[in-house]
This record gives sequence, C-alpha cells and structure tokens, in this order.
Amino acid sequence: MTAQIIDGKAFAASIREKVAGHVARLREDHGLKPGLAVVLVGEDPASQVYVRSKGKMTLEVAMASFEHRLPAETSEADLLALVETLNGDPEVHGILVQLPLPPHLNSDLVINAIDPAKDVDGFHISNVGLLGTGQKAMVPCTPLGCLMMLRAQLGSLSGLEAVVVGRSNIVGKPMAMLLLGDSCTVTMAHSRTRDLADVVRRADIVVVAVGRTEMVRGDWIKAGATVIDVGMNRVPGEGGKTRLVGDVDFESASARAGAITPVPGGVGPMTIACLLANTVTACCRANGIAEPE
Ligand code: NDP
Repeated sequence: MTAQIIDGKAFAASIREKVAGHVARLREDHGLKPGLAVVLVGEDPASQVYVRSKGKMTLEVAMASFEHRLPAETSEADLLALVETLNGDPEVHGILVQLPLPPHLNSDLVINAIDPAKDVDGFHISNVGLLGTGQKAMVPCTPLGCLMMLRAQLGSLSGLEAVVVGRSNIVGKPMAMLLLGDSCTVTMAHSRTRDLADVVRRADIVVVAVGRTEMVRGDWIKAGATVIDVGMNRVPGEGGKTRLVGDVDFESASARAGAITPVPGGVGPMTIACLLANTVTACCRANGIAEPE
C-alpha cells in the first residue's frame, strides 16, 4: 500500500485564496482592512524567516501588516508597553509575538498581556481555557491547520482513535483538545509514555509533534492510518546545505499509512494560512460581523 500524500502547500494556497476573498468583502461591504501585527524580539534566524514570510503573505491577501522588530536586549516593560499600544490600536486586529523570546523575557507574562480577542496565535490563557471548555476561542494555528487537513481527508472524525505524540502547549495539547472536540478517542503520548510504538499502532489518526528526526517508524503505523507530521528538523543535506525532515520516517510510514503529510510541504504552509484566517476572524468578531466558516 502506498499512502496518499496530503498536499499542505496546495491546501494552504486554497485557504489563502478564501482569506483574500473575505478581505475583499470586508473592504467593499464594511470599509475594513484586517491588520496583523507581528513582534519579533532579537535575531533568532528561524524566527526571522517566519516573520518575513508572515509579512509577505499578509500583504499578498491585501491585509495590513505591521512589523515590530526590537533588539534582543529589549526590556520586559518596553515589550509590554508595545503590546498595550497594539491592544489599543483599532487598525490592528491580530497580534503575534514571535516565540521563543530571549531568556530574560517572561513569555507567559507577555502572551497574557495580549488582548485575547487579538490573540491570533491562541496562546493566551483565556483562549486556552475557552478551547478546553469547548467555547468559541482563538485556536492555535498549527493544530488548526492539522485539523482542517484531517477533516478534508476523512470527513467526520467521530469515534476514530487518535494518538497525539508530543504535549507542548503550542501543538500537542491544543491538537488533543481539537480532536476531542471532533469526538475522537484521544491518547496523548510524550517522552514518558511506555511502549510508544504500541500506543501509536492503535491509532486511526497519528499527529506527531516531537522535534526528533524520523522517530516514528513505518512499523508503528496501523495499515491505512492518517499520519500528520508536524516535526520540522534541520539536518545536513547535499553540498553543505541543510534540509528539512519530519518526526516521521516518511518512506517506511508511507508504505503503511492511508494518507500522510510530507515535510516540507505538509503542515508547515498551513500554519501561516491559518494565522491569516484567524486574523480575519478576529476582525469580524471585533466589528460584530458574521465570521467566515
Ligand atoms: P516541544 O519541544 O515543545 O515538545 C516536544 C514534545 O515531544 C514534548 O511533549 C516531549 O515530551 C515530546 N517528546 C520528546 N521526545 C520524545 C520521545 N522520545 N518520545 C515521545 N515524545 C517525546 O516541541 P513543539 O511542540 O514546539 O514542536 C514539535 C515539533 O514540531 C518541532 O519539530 C517543531 O519544529 C515543529 N513545529 C512545527 C510547526 C509548523 O508550523 N509546522 C509549528 C510548531 C512546531 P515531554 O513533554 O515529556 O518532554
């Protein structure tokens, strides 16, 4: 059996196209322009790449992009003051503080200073609570993208066995909440899980967000399962370059899975597309306009 490859790149492009349509309607019907503010503190190279592509794609869908690049030694007080200004800016509907922050800054404090209605990353404690209690929340972009791909692939997820490997606040935990919300039977696995391979083997849906190169092997996968690989690991490639590989051994897993996301080109592109979609949602909610599905 060879798995169907889930094309995250094409899926993300279709979401961005829909977002661009919503942005055009907000402009024509309501005179509104959704705005996304991204705050980057310091010079982490990976964060710089993310922030650049977020800015570029924000402009591509004709939303307003506000970039705030602050030096690594920025004080907590100054960063909190910027967040406060953005909270009060009516042109800004979404605020994203790029993580990780330099170690002298308290990420929880900064994230929880964002107005929850503008928290398009969905990391504010209020949004975490809303998601956990099944209420209308801002949902973290990466797990939201994974859920969209799963629904598109499988239709109803009700009753399916889902195993989420990794329990981070940004991917694993919200992913489990979303799958539970879609009535999966959810198991969360992590570094202390015993017999991880056996746990994964019972899954109809496997979502892996660990950060370990090709850790999940093909013989861990139940035949026909749907595999979502969130991992993004840089490894040495040809000619002194690096290449991106996932947490799943793609070759062996795609021989058993029913469908699988590749790395790159799977989950990655969906994350920014969902960020743009969340910004449109935030703009609609802020203005009492019915939000897109
Ligand atoms: P974290 O480092 O925050 O969490 C990793 C999780 O994996 C932890 O819960 C940890 O368990 C678990 N883990 C570590 N080793 C093992 C093991 N041997 N067996 C089982 N579980 C293990 O990572 P993130 O969630 O932030 O990211 C995970 C991966 O996803 C990374 O590669 C990251 O780059 C990628 N990522 C991709 C995104 C995208 O847009 N595509 C967005 C965000 C992340 P424990 O809690 O017990 O320590």
